[in-house]
Amino acid sequence: MLKRYKTLQQPWMKSVLLIQDEILSALRDFLRSEGFIEILAPIIGPVTDPGIRGAQQVTINYYGARFKIMSSMILYKQMAAASLKKVFALSPNIRIEPLETIATGRHLAEFRQLDVENAHANYYDAMSIAERLLAYTCKRILKNRRNELQFLERKLEIPKVPFKKLTYQEAVEMLKAEGFKIKYGEEIPWDAERFLSSMFEQPFFIIDYPLSARGFYDREDPERPGILRDFDMYYPEGYGEAISGGEREHTFKAVVERMRLTGENPADYGWYLEMLKDGIPPSAGFGIGVERLTRWICGLKHVWDAVPFPKVPGIVSP
Ligand code: ASP
Ligand code: MG
Repeated sequence: MLKRYKTLQQPWMKSVLLIQDEILSALRDFLRSEGFIEILAPIIGPVTDPGIRGAQQVTINYYGARFKIMSSMILYKQMAAASLKKVFALSPNIRIEPLETIATGRHLAEFRQLDVENAHANYYDAMSIAERLLAYTCKRILKNRRNELQFLERKLEIPKVPFKKLTYQEAVEMLKAEGFKIKYGEEIPWDAERFLSSMFEQPFFIIDYPLSARGFYDREDPERPGILRDFDMYYPEGYGEAISGGEREHTFKAVVERMRLTGENPADYGWYLEMLKDGIPPSAGFGIGVERLTRWICGLKHVWDAVPFPKVPGIVSP
């Protein structure tokens, strides 16, 4: 294998990094044009995102206290949205992914996520922001980085808004009809996810996940118990999950009940539960992984080709 500093000098890698630079500007420009305010995310804190699907969090000793490195800043963006209403932050996340995720080609142990949160919005508002954000970003790349896309032999089109929406139940039925063994209520397994994604030529949403598949902060629909007002966005062509998002469970009582269901100890969530007890507005939002976005836009086989200094699960590297 090439040394990393040599890889960074390869013409294809330079094209990827130039495209990534334009992606970062486009994401920020779009959100600002929609009235979102950029905030600085925490990197460590007493709590972090528990809903990370089999990955482990990293704990550090912070002057004698147990602190986590952010697996995502979800709980903190709710705090900021209660003040500024529309916020976003771009920050690194650490998730010690199981070794077998290396086979998906789309997991990194360190990645950057653009987190978006909008007070008083519902999950349809959040999906509208997400799909227009993606379409705008593609438009910018086609305008300003056409040569680099050509060099990578990537044919990119601006996706058509609004994106198709499948319910989780519809997705599971489609997959079952193709021979996948999935039980209603589970997360969609990696191989099924890739297959589903390869059935589409445009990005699409899966909405309304079952309560048992997600962490405590995705809001349960009061009119449809057991169903969450949340979504994932999938890239087409087999690239799989792009975004997770939804409305937030935000009342103290509901969150404590959900924590009990997901096996979280409410005592671990000190400041967060105090904040909810005082009361915060409802909100909705999502997180989009920057390396996966770059991978899809550039048409790369592996997500670790979409970042200058990759941390591939299980591999010790710069
Ligand atoms: N916290 C979610 C994640 O990291 C994103 C979100 O719901 O905003 O997948
Ligand atoms: Mg997700």
